[in-house]
Amino acid sequence: METVNQSDKYISKEIEMTIRHLSDEKVRHAIIVQGYIRQYVSDFLRLKGYIEISPIIISPLTDPLNHPVYDPMIHAYGGDMWITKSMIFHKQIAVQELKKIFIMSPNIRLEEEKRAETGRHLYEFTQIDIEALEKSREDMMDLAEDLIIYTIGRIKKEHPEELKYFHRELPDYKKPFDKITYLDAEKKYGKDFERKLSLEAKSPVWLIDIPLKEREFYDREYPDKPGILRDMDLIYPEGYQEASSGGEREFELSKILERIHKKGQTEDQFKWFIELAKHGIKLSTGFGIGIERFTRFVCGVEKIEDVSPFPKIPGKISL
Ligand code: ASP
Ligand code: MG
Repeated sequence: METVNQSDKYISKEIEMTIRHLSDEKVRHAIIVQGYIRQYVSDFLRLKGYIEISPIIISPLTDPLNHPVYDPMIHAYGGDMWITKSMIFHKQIAVQELKKIFIMSPNIRLEEEKRAETGRHLYEFTQIDIEALEKSREDMMDLAEDLIIYTIGRIKKEHPEELKYFHRELPDYKKPFDKITYLDAEKKYGKDFERKLSLEAKSPVWLIDIPLKEREFYDREYPDKPGILRDMDLIYPEGYQEASSGGEREFELSKILERIHKKGQTEDQFKWFIELAKHGIKLSTGFGIGIERFTRFVCGVEKIEDVSPFPKIPGKISL
C-alpha cells in the first residue's frame, strides 16, 4: 500500500484524502443541506399521502437502464441476483397495493470512466423514487413541481444561513414549469440540447415525449403516437442539467412483451414482472430525483463529489 507518512502511524493516500474531504467546510455544509432535503421531501410526500417503503439492495429484478454500465451479478442460493440499479419494477409492483409510495433508494450504476468529469455522476447514489397508481404523467408533473417548490421554500425559510454560506440565491419558482418536447429541443439546440436548454433556463423545465429508443422498455408509449413515450425528464436551470426522469409505465402484457423484444432483451430477465403483468396490473406513473444532484443544485456547487461524504466517481475505487 502506498504511504504518505513514514512515522509509526502509516496512513494511506486514500484515507488521507477521505479525511481531508470530510473536514472540508463546503462538504460539511452540503451534507447538512442534503439532510434537510431528505427531511422536507419526506414531509411533503407524507403530507400528500405517500407511504415510504424501505429500499431493496439485491434482487433478480432490476432496471435494465438504457446506457451501458458494468453490471456485476451475484450468484447465490442456486440463482442470480443483481445489485439495484433502480427499483423501477419494485415500485410498479408495490404501488399496485400501496397506491402511493416513495423510497430513499440507493442505486449502484457502475458508469463508464468517461463520466468521471461530468460533475454529475456518482456510481453509488440515492434517488427519491416516487410512484402512484392510476395517475397520469400530468398529475405527477404537478406533484414534482410542488415537491421542488416546497423543499426549496423550506430551506430558504428555515435555513437561510446554509444558502448564505454558499452565496446561493434561489428564486421562488412558479408553477407550471415550461415544457418542451425532446424532438423540439433537439431541433432548437442541436445534439447537446440538454446542456444548452439547462444553461438558458431560469427555472426548472420539463423535457417531455422522449423517443422510445432513448429510454428503457418500461415507460409507456403514446397509444396514438408510435415511437414516442409518455414520459418526462426535469431539467434544472443554470446548467445543472437532469434533475429527474420518469413517466407513465406500460402495464398491458402485450405491450410489455413487445417493448422487451424491441430492446433485444430477454423475457427471462424480467420473468417475475411478466408473471405479475399476466395476472394484471394497472397504470402507474412515477419519477426519481437524485438526492445528490438536488443538493448540488440547491447549494450551487460544481462537483457532485462535494455533496457526498464518500463520493464514488466512475472509474475509481473509493472508500
Ligand atoms: N427510477 C427510475 C430511474 O432510475 C426513474 C423513474 O422512471 O421513476 O431512472
Ligand atoms: Mg430512468
